[in-house]
Amino acid sequence: MMITPKFVSALTQIGTQRLDPVEASKVQITNIVALITCVVAFIYALYFHFALDQGYIALANLGFVLCYFLPVLINYKYFYRLAKSWFFMVLIAHVCLFGFYVFSQAAGFHFYYLIIIPGVFLLFNQQDKIEKFAFCLLAILLFFVSELSVHSAPMIVLAPTAEKTLFLSVIFVIMTETYFIMSVLSRNIGLYENELKLMASTDILTGINNRRIFMLLGKELFEHARRYNNPLSLMMLDIDYFKKINDQYGHLVGDKALQQVALTLQANLRASDVLARYGGEEFVILLPQTDSTNALELAQKLREEVSLIRLEIKGFEPISFTTSIGLAQYHDQLKSVTQLLNNADKALYQAKKAGRNKVLAYQV
Ligand code: GH3
Ligand code: MG
Ligand code: MG
Repeated sequence: MMITPKFVSALTQIGTQRLDPVEASKVQITNIVALITCVVAFIYALYFHFALDQGYIALANLGFVLCYFLPVLINYKYFYRLAKSWFFMVLIAHVCLFGFYVFSQAAGFHFYYLIIIPGVFLLFNQQDKIEKFAFCLLAILLFFVSELSVHSAPMIVLAPTAEKTLFLSVIFVIMTETYFIMSVLSRNIGLYENELKLMASTDILTGINNRRIFMLLGKELFEHARRYNNPLSLMMLDIDYFKKINDQYGHLVGDKALQQVALTLQANLRASDVLARYGGEEFVILLPQTDSTNALELAQKLREEVSLIRLEIKGFEPISFTTSIGLAQYHDQLKSVTQLLNNADKALYQAKKAGRNKVLAYQV
């Protein structure tokens, strides 16, 4: 049978079908580690048979190859924790047997205990504390027992060159496996970091910036405008009579309206403009390099675009609504972006008072 990359990839996916991507990738890593260990143990079996002429030892090692494959089958049955525990139990039994009885200390087989510590942190989950602690403790104890105790005569007395070859192979495998483990762990940390950053800066409902990141970006843009005396405009939008939409059609329709507004606003802005959901049904937009005339023009356009939205809901006429907009302009008397926001809020209040579906600019 030809071993194709597709076949190997399918093997690594065993047991991952029911899981979310994060859990699936953990099970996949267990499968990959088990398969790599199978390959390494198989190469050792070939070496024992062909180079050392030790048929029985080679056969015993082939037995271990099968044992290392078992976690993949256990994952197939969805016993993920058992699969990992089984893998480490087999690894410890293997190193014990070969490090203590089969070869002399000088072959260095007991150094394989060292890989168990990073290995358990790679495979086990955060909450599997008992397994991690037990396997690490066992590995440390067994390593020192192997290193410090006086070995009885090993089953196989190797020539010094063969002993050296085995020793070097152990170090080589440990170093490459450490590289593999570290690269997987650091990649995962990178992925989680990006996800956290995204979660901390995104509004879940609409996918645009949230208030937290808006304030951070706002501070930067404000400082920039102050330093270079550049124009900077701020727009605050509030959907008119939004409560009515919720009351009449339900919260889900209200949510849909908010998503549609976010999409509409985003579609009409430049890449350098900063749009955010500021509160429930309030949006804010910072417009760098935009003076009051251009900001007013854009605000009128956005007001009109929002009024053209039609929410298609089964059993109802298309739903439309309007928005009121308050505008404020940076000037050198302002101390912070919060003051700019206050001014836009005051203008918005005036727009509401003036009958809604209006744009009003704050007058200094
Ligand atoms: P006005 O024209 O004066 O702005 O009237 P309004 O009804 O829009 O204003 P009000 O502030 O009284 O109501 C805002 C409503 O927005 C109340 C709240 O239930 C709703 N809301 C806030 N956040 C969400 C949300 O995430 N989803 C939904 N569906 N509704 C929300
Ligand atoms: Mg409001
Ligand atoms: Mg409102």
